[in-house]
Amino acid sequence: MVTRVATCRCGQLSASCEGEPVRVSACHCLECQKRSGSAFATQARWPDEQVVISGQFKQWERIADSGHRATYKFCPVCGSTLAYVIEGWPGVTAVAVGAFADPNFPGPKFSVYEHRKHDWVEIHGDEVEHSSDPAIAFTQGRLPGAGSD
Ligand SMILES: [Zn+2]
Ligand SMILES: [Zn+2]
Repeated sequence: MVTRVATCRCGQLSASCEGEPVRVSACHCLECQKRSGSAFATQARWPDEQVVISGQFKQWERIADSGHRATYKFCPVCGSTLAYVIEGWPGVTAVAVGAFADPNFPGPKFSVYEHRKHDWVEIHGDEVEHSSDPAIAFTQGRLPGAGSD
């Protein structure tokens, strides 16, 4: 079974992820733009038990549009946000795709919050589901429960 390792920029914090992710998504919401520092964010999710986080981290919480608490784990040394969990989607951990530093990482199958998308951004692929309605983003292609990307 494939194991991929995501790390923060300084490398002391890592997330070892076993098996294929259950969801890879691109999110254009403003919070994800702020989190990633980019015009959109991509994240991959695995069941919690398939993600082993090693190293020091701090946590920061916010309430997502869905009303659920989102908890972000970030490196206190270099500041990278490596992983996060959302109450509305219990049992899965989201890991920032960029933290894998792997251009061959599976691409997103969901592109959500497209009403916040920068005009010059386009997520390609025949199998990509696009959504602009946050209410749809909360439920589309999800495991039971809801959340925000
Ligand atoms: Zn770091
Ligand atoms: Zn988002």
